[in-house]
Parts: sequence; C-alpha cells; structure tokens
Amino acid sequence: MRILIDNGHGADTQGKRSPDGSFREYRWARDIAARVVKELRGRGYEAELLVPEERDIPLSERCRRVNALCTQVGKADVLLVSVHVNAAGNGNGWMTARGWSAHVSLNAGAQSKKLARALVASAEEEGLKVRRYSPQEPYWAQNLAICRDTACAAVLTENLFMDNRDDLAMLNSTEGMEAVVALHVRGIVDYIEGKR
Ligand SMILES: [Zn+2]
Repeated sequence: MRILIDNGHGADTQGKRSPDGSFREYRWARDIAARVVKELRGRGYEAELLVPEERDIPLSERCRRVNALCTQVGKADVLLVSVHVNAAGNGNGWMTARGWSAHVSLNAGAQSKKLARALVASAEEEGLKVRRYSPQEPYWAQNLAICRDTACAAVLTENLFMDNRDDLAMLNSTEGMEAVVALHVRGIVDYIEGKR
C-alpha cells in the first residue's frame, strides 16, 4: 500500500489562520503530515508527502499526482489522507464550535468510508471530541475535490478548530499534536491491516 499524506494549503494561501494570527493552518498541517509520514515509514509502511512544496499547490495538480500513482500501482494499493484544521468563522473572531471530524466526498466508495471509520475510531481512542454526522455515520460526506477527483480511498480530516480558543491551545500543545499524529498513524495502519 502506498500512503499519500496531503497537507492542504500553502504559505501563500489567504486566510487559514487563527483570529489572533498566531496559528497558520499550512504550517501546522505540514508539521503533522511530516510526522505521520516519518512514523509510518518507521513502521515499515510506504508513506510520502503529496506536497513537499511550501507554496500552495492547486487541487487539480494534487489530484493529478494522486491519480498518476493510482495508474502506476493500481488504485486499490493507494490511500490518501488530507490533513486540515477547521474554522467556524471567517477568521476575524473567536467561535464556539470545537472538535475533530473526518470527511469523504459525496461519491465516496466503500474503501474511503472504511478508512474514515478507522480514523474516527482512532480519534476517539486518542480522547478527541469527534463531531459525527450522526450516531450511525461517523463521517461527513461533502463535495471535496481532493476526495471526489481522486481514484483511491481518500479521507480529509479536520483537526479541531483554529478559531476556538480551547481547540487552539490543544493544537499548539505537545499532547495535542501527538494525539493527532497518533490517530492518523493508527487509523491508517488499522485500515491497511483490516483491523476495523
Ligand atoms: Zn484546510
């Protein structure tokens, strides 16, 4: 299995920061993505960053990279997780929404849903407050290009809210970052090994 970790936005992406400007989504997601890749490689899995660049890489190009690998090795042997941080407002004020969530595209196949379930289960084990779509459906189905236009199993994670003060403190903490790294690693491993 070839594991692709996408870190979303780039240094030049507008917005995507905490209301006080201290937190940048692109920087945090790159840090987490690199740590997830390193951890998976340490366990013998073939993991790589989809976007090694610091700048914003358009969704069309990111999807092209994923699909090129799918063509090369077969889509059943590729999985993609895109790491993001949520925001409830427009970046100008602190909001009340909190928590972690997993998202798939509206056209998601069974494998994407299975991967999303594995990530949700891991997030709950790490003690994160998971925002479920419903008690039965733990993930959210949305029109997401990175999941919609890629051929393999694909899930986007929204790792807490950068415009909530409590979530932001957790995002900036060692424990919070370790929990997010751990949930991605275990969720992906459990999916690959068929444990969930
Ligand atoms: Zn994002």
